Amino acid sequence: MSDCIFCKIAAGEIPSNTVYENENLRVILDISPANPGHCLVLPKSHAGNIFEIEENLLKEAFAAAKKTASALKLSGLADGVNILQNNGEIAGQTVNHFHIHVIPRKEGDKVTLKHEGVKLSSEEMDHVGEAVKKALN
Ligand code: AMP
Ligand code: ZN
Repeated sequence: MSDCIFCKIAAGEIPSNTVYENENLRVILDISPANPGHCLVLPKSHAGNIFEIEENLLKEAFAAAKKTASALKLSGLADGVNILQNNGEIAGQTVNHFHIHVIPRKEGDKVTLKHEGVKLSSEEMDHVGEAVKKALN
């Protein structure tokens, strides 16, 4: 997509700190990292989000996220890793090109990804379970 910054970065038209690249994707350092080593997996072909991306490319992107997570551990930058993938403005997506965050974690770091649980009655749990089941099957 001509006006998409991640298309341009993935294609190498805009410089990035690339840590891995193959025919279909590029892994770069996030410009504003949650922790040192925070990486982004960028497919080279444009899909806005998880709803749009083709399944084989999705699998390849998550395989690259796994590889990156292992590399972060091996390099000593991470003791644990969060995989984060935002879809839609309401979910915190700011760049409208599918990407996977691989966030290295260390004891005592300042990263916060925790949520407070919402309380649902067992009827509400059953209701939402049924709604999801119906949509999935
Ligand atoms: P999201 O909020 O999931 O859309 O994440 C977008 C991420 O892209 C943020 O963590 C930004 O710091 C990162 N980002 C934006 N522009 C660049 C860039 N030019 N190079 C590297 N990372 C970027
Ligand atoms: Zn794009």
